[in-house]
Amino acid sequence: MARSRLNADGPGPAGARDLPAVDSVLRTSLAATLIDRFGRTAAVAAVRAAIDSARERGGRRRAADAVALIAQGRLEAAHASRLKPVFNLTGTVLHTNLGRAILAEEAAEAALKAMRHAVALEFDLEGSRRGDRDDVLRALLIELTGAEDATVVNNNAAAVLITLNTLAKGRGAIVSRGELIEIGGAFRMPQIMSRAGAKLVEVGTTNRTHLRDYAEAIDARTGLILKVHTSNYRIEGFTAEVPARDLAALARERGIPLVDDLGSGTLVDLSRYGLPREPTVAEAVAAGVDLVTFSGDKLLGGPQAGFIVGRKDLIARINKNPMKRALRVDKIRLAAIEATLRLYRDPDRLGARLPTLRALSRPRADIDACARRLKDPVAARLGAAFRVEVVACASQVGSGAVPVDTLHSAGLSLRPAALRGAGRALAGLAAALRRLPMPVIGRISDQTLLLDLRCLEDEAAFLANLASLDPVAAATESRP
Ligand SMILES: *Cc1c(COP(=O)(O)O)cnc(C)c1O
Repeated sequence: MARSRLNADGPGPAGARDLPAVDSVLRTSLAATLIDRFGRTAAVAAVRAAIDSARERGGRRRAADAVALIAQGRLEAAHASRLKPVFNLTGTVLHTNLGRAILAEEAAEAALKAMRHAVALEFDLEGSRRGDRDDVLRALLIELTGAEDATVVNNNAAAVLITLNTLAKGRGAIVSRGELIEIGGAFRMPQIMSRAGAKLVEVGTTNRTHLRDYAEAIDARTGLILKVHTSNYRIEGFTAEVPARDLAALARERGIPLVDDLGSGTLVDLSRYGLPREPTVAEAVAAGVDLVTFSGDKLLGGPQAGFIVGRKDLIARINKNPMKRALRVDKIRLAAIEATLRLYRDPDRLGARLPTLRALSRPRADIDACARRLKDPVAARLGAAFRVEVVACASQVGSGAVPVDTLHSAGLSLRPAALRGAGRALAGLAAALRRLPMPVIGRISDQTLLLDLRCLEDEAAFLANLASLDPVAAATESRP
């Protein structure tokens, strides 16, 4: 049946004449508030769409008010942000799919200020020369890493790409076979190399690479030696890798730059906060590495960014690469990065101010107490269909940082009371939690939905949000 014949305002097939005209829906008081909230164009389109879909479903008699209500549902659904804030109760603190680090208050404020005002981004307020946007961060990065110079790009993948392209385009880049990482998605070291125009020169074996392997591979066409932090895995057993210090000595002797992709690259000794030790950027610089690359939104706890620190002459070459313009960072992020880095000047209070570090270093007893407080209200909300228990669990850092070590944590395990249909009930509960005004994301394992409470700071907001949960729907919705 041709759609053009189905006109709600004129004669049509059976039932269509029972639908209100667009104009009469727009005269309702609800439509007036919709026009006010969403604008006339969107409101009229939603009313038309509501009438069309009612007609397609058989055109039962509908009052103008009822159609306006359907239009409201459509507008609200279309208007909701796709970038919804969620409760990350997965137990993975730096969850790439959930946006990695949560920024410090200081960083959020700085970003907001930069959004609202013109800023001295490439403008020297003290002199007449044109400023450089790297000046905003250069001094701080030098201070915190001990490097000669520093620059910043979009993310660490970009930092690796531009470094390889600048120093090894059309030349060889020597890497150990034990460090040819895939970070996830399309970030595989061999592919990044080829996109950067560098020729991959693999040395050593998967488990053992020696200094002589690097030394023998160096020739007139070598552009650089690359050391890669094996962020998301660990090779154990009969292994050998060459320490940065020894590689640096070889690189210096042969006049070839040594680059270390540290991945997460923390700026402080994490053992100070009771966490597993990770190599720091300053240590790599002190070991004699020429350029170190690392991420802004992993352990560092800032916004997405990629840092390159090291030798002044090499940083100058990177800054002259036309790619730099394509990979540069905007004023909003620069403001947030600057505020985040500034917090590192006061390591004593860093653990309290930086949300990533606060979550990672949160004592187990504290998380356990939170679980005990929430157990009864959560159980009451879920009803008899689910059993709620306080359990010990293990969190992880995430984003490939500190891959093997886990952190003692605590949480709530939500388990269907009935064995029959338990799998479906669990999936239904997970789905109902994901549909809350602020979706709650846990992890399902071993017939329970686990809510790891390490990253939960605002318990009151969590409970207020949970009040919207429909426990009956949660328990039954996925039954056929
Ligand atoms: C995470 C990581 C990258 C990519 O960093 P992004 O900031 O996510 O682009 C590159 N190299 C290593 C070793 C990493 O761990």
